[in-house]
Amino acid sequence: MSAILEEGEAERLLAQAIAGKLPDERGRFGPFGGRYVPETLVPAFERLEAGVREHLHAAEFQDEFRRELRSWVGRPTALTYARQLSERWGAEVWLKREDLAHTGAHKINNAIGQALLAKRLGAKRVIAETGAGQHGVASAAACARVGLPCSVYMGAVDVERQAPNVDRMRRLGAEVVAVTAGDATLRAAIDEALRVWVTDPDGIYYILGSAVGAHPYPYLVRELQSVIGEEAREQMLREAGGLADAAFACVGGGSNAIGLFYPLLADDTELIGVEAGGTGSGLGQNAATLATGTPGVLQGSYTIILQDNDGQVQETHSISAGLDYSGVGPEHALLKSTGRVSYISATDDEALEALEELCETEGILTALETSHAFAAARNWAREHPGKRILIGNSGRGDKDMPTLTKYPAKVRSYAAA
Ligand SMILES: *Cc1c(COP(=O)(O)O)cnc(C)c1O
Repeated sequence: MSAILEEGEAERLLAQAIAGKLPDERGRFGPFGGRYVPETLVPAFERLEAGVREHLHAAEFQDEFRRELRSWVGRPTALTYARQLSERWGAEVWLKREDLAHTGAHKINNAIGQALLAKRLGAKRVIAETGAGQHGVASAAACARVGLPCSVYMGAVDVERQAPNVDRMRRLGAEVVAVTAGDATLRAAIDEALRVWVTDPDGIYYILGSAVGAHPYPYLVRELQSVIGEEAREQMLREAGGLADAAFACVGGGSNAIGLFYPLLADDTELIGVEAGGTGSGLGQNAATLATGTPGVLQGSYTIILQDNDGQVQETHSISAGLDYSGVGPEHALLKSTGRVSYISATDDEALEALEELCETEGILTALETSHAFAAARNWAREHPGKRILIGNSGRGDKDMPTLTKYPAKVRSYAAA
């Protein structure tokens, strides 16, 4: 597991992570992270890094951010005891309800935080990338809220596939730009946003949507999303009577997972990240980056990626668009290497089954991404009877209805009776 770290190194790095000392001043999480970008991009990243250092933890910014989280996003989000699911699983199951946050997922925490930062840095306009459109919608909403024009770069293939979200973004006042270059999906959209950013790094602010990419983004996004774990920790102590034995979160780029896990690193809670197992273990059939990938550089960061023996980045597959990415945030690569967090995967079918079970038992239609965490938690509960489990319910599933109509719901047990 710790193949990349020397003897003793894992312990030292984990202690640093827990002490809040990572990333280091070069943006590194042990061997991972950093900033591997072309010369032309360096000034934009340095300007952003200086802005983050000046404002992110300043009282004025934090006051404004916390106020927006409370009054506009709707935080703190609830902690829900899943009574029927607990009975079925033989466990005590608690859900951190990011699906109740404005625009329906955790992504808004990051989007509003960065939009407020853009304002403070004097940006004239904002750009963002999006894959399935969830981060694009959150960015469009956040930009409308702070009063900045927003352009969302989106692969042409995704513009076609995600028409309802394209319409949502436009209604929220954003310009949606279809990117036809490269694979015409998320990776191409990020590349295009970076290309546009360098044309005017002073006037443009780039809101990146997950804990990925070059420094300072993985750090910035973690800091903004950590509100999930901070709240959940306090709520577990107050409402559940103690911390969880195990916590689960789905991992695409890794922002909701790092947001939940980071404040729990020093605790005894077992932390488990769940990736997309897709349709099988073959290359291109899944997006189980940490579970099956190897170290390499992707979009400015040294992390774990899905690549072939020649270093060619692999296509991925997942039923959930939000997990369908061939890289992962560098902090997760470190946490895996230290052994503090384990990363497993759930298949498309397991996710669908879990989604249905949650609907039926708790009246919650969760996102397909999130369903992967439920599937893994359920398997874990069976092997560890009687434990207290916390699941990061990253978003709601209304957006997945077009996909779900292809998989008709099974006849409910009570309907059949
Ligand atoms: C985008 C998304 C994810 C995956 O992104 P992370 O950065 O890994 O959190 C997970 N769940 C939902 C609901 C999403 O919209």
